[in-house]
Amino acid sequence: MSRTRIQRMSRLMAKTLREEPADAETLSHQLLVRAGYVRRTSAGIWTWLPLGKKVLDNVARVVREEMDAFGAQEVLLPALLPKDAYEESGRYEEYGDLLFRLKDRKGADYLLAPTHEEIFTQVVKDQCTSYKDLPVILYQIQTKYRDEARPRSGVLRGREFLMKDSYSFDTTDEGLAESYALHREAYRAIFARLGVDYRIVSAVSGAMGGSASEEFLAPAAAGEDTFADCPACEYAANTEAVAFKAAVPAAAAPGPVEELDTPDTPTIEALAAHLGVPASATLKNLLVKVDGEIVAVGVPGDREVDLGKLGEHLAPAEVELVTAQDFEGRPDLVRGYVGPQGLDIRYIADPRVAPGTAWVTGANKPDTHARGVVAGRDFEVDDYLDVVVVEEGDPCPACGAGLRLDRAIEVGHIFQLGRKYADVFQLDVLGRDGKPARVTMGSYGLGISRVVAALAEQTADGQGLCWPREIAPADVHVVAAGKTAQTELALRAAEQLAAAGLRVLVDERPGVSPGVKFTDAELIGVPTILVAGRRAAEDVVELKDRRTGKREELSLTDAVRALT
Ligand code: ATP
Ligand code: MG
Ligand code: MG
Ligand code: MG
Repeated sequence: MSRTRIQRMSRLMAKTLREEPADAETLSHQLLVRAGYVRRTSAGIWTWLPLGKKVLDNVARVVREEMDAFGAQEVLLPALLPKDAYEESGRYEEYGDLLFRLKDRKGADYLLAPTHEEIFTQVVKDQCTSYKDLPVILYQIQTKYRDEARPRSGVLRGREFLMKDSYSFDTTDEGLAESYALHREAYRAIFARLGVDYRIVSAVSGAMGGSASEEFLAPAAAGEDTFADCPACEYAANTEAVAFKAAVPAAAAPGPVEELDTPDTPTIEALAAHLGVPASATLKNLLVKVDGEIVAVGVPGDREVDLGKLGEHLAPAEVELVTAQDFEGRPDLVRGYVGPQGLDIRYIADPRVAPGTAWVTGANKPDTHARGVVAGRDFEVDDYLDVVVVEEGDPCPACGAGLRLDRAIEVGHIFQLGRKYADVFQLDVLGRDGKPARVTMGSYGLGISRVVAALAEQTADGQGLCWPREIAPADVHVVAAGKTAQTELALRAAEQLAAAGLRVLVDERPGVSPGVKFTDAELIGVPTILVAGRRAAEDVVELKDRRTGKREELSLTDAVRALT
């Protein structure tokens, strides 16, 4: 029985590499490839090799245990879906190029789901009919598909990736708040167990009451999100957006809405030329993306983003003007309204904009903006979003210390959706009062495959990967550093450790030098390395802590005792 807990390196399909893969831009990408955890099949599409699959499964196991612990129920929905439900919600169009679309043999349109709000809503509509059936929280650990523009960071940003997504269904706002709080606590427990260093930042707050949306960010240089972190207190915030509700009275103002064709990737100069303003001008309500991430949003009022200033820091070619279609997964940031000219205007707005102000917005077509759009006339103004641009050194709102801007990886996102999808699919249950009650929903994502990369980023050192024990591919890496006596001792050590319930990787490869075995052990990153070497004849082994490098010599018996 203990055999199954021992993996022999001589049999393990893991070809370690000394050289960095040429295309690897991030540390986790390099190391996961070099250590034989994953193999690139195509851009953003990855094969999980035996070591990687173990780590991936360990992350999934922890997530599953913590979801089950608060009563969430696991299901499995298809990834391949007919387009109907997404067409009803409007996301079949909204997702634009991000969506993988395909046809069946009869020519019917299908998609590979990027997220599953629509289908979960339909499942619950079918299964739950009374308030007595709610609340219900469903989750799945399932493969998602997004045709990401720049899938360059290994499994950090895949086009096919593994996500835990869950959805809560309640009849009341208080119920939704509770389901949200349960997720928040579960996520904290999950990331603590996984050993992820994380911050919770509010993605949007206020507008929908309290913390309507929060992101779990794992600080790491390879991260594609920027967040403001206070060195002096607990404060952390997303630099992208903070929202609150402000009632701005609607007022009409004259002037037509004008459509602008904005090219795919304009330089700042081209962009300014398009809009007919000098490159140094302050532009309003433009979304600027660099390397796929929104880095700046022009807003009206006193927090305008000066694209000319931005240009001092960035090569113009890196700057890409985006339309609101790019806000996939952030319905909180995008609202669509049909204006008088038939424009379906999607916007990022500011509560302090005076009604009647004409400004530039995203429009309903890719690569298009609209000029002269009037707040209060062309779109509703009761639900504005305030986009706050935070700069390095700005005072912390909590304690006044200078904020730092740090890079981070978004590992989780929890979100109070409200009734958006319930409205689309008319998801009602029979209420206490005998009348139909519209259901309110939350949606909660956690990137299982991304967490593997995030942990690799946060824990690796100059020698290689360095996993926390809970998710490591093994508990102990036993190295036979020598010939017959060492191999015999190493195998005996492996047997005893496995018998005590530990997962063991044993490097008994004949004809491989101790030096190569040590290098591989450091690269693979199992938390404890047990070496059968010099003093094998005395039954003495060396225990090495992969993280601290601390070593000690012990008898095999004491070593096994120390590890179990
Ligand atoms: P990002 O801002 O990095 O593009 P997102 O905000 O689009 O992520 P969500 O729609 O919130 O992602 O999805 C929930 C979670 O799924 C994310 O928090 C992240 O952990 C994970 N995730 C999203 N996109 C990817 C991807 N392309 N590859 C791996 N994991 C991903
Ligand atoms: Mg995304
Ligand atoms: Mg995001
Ligand atoms: Mg997100």
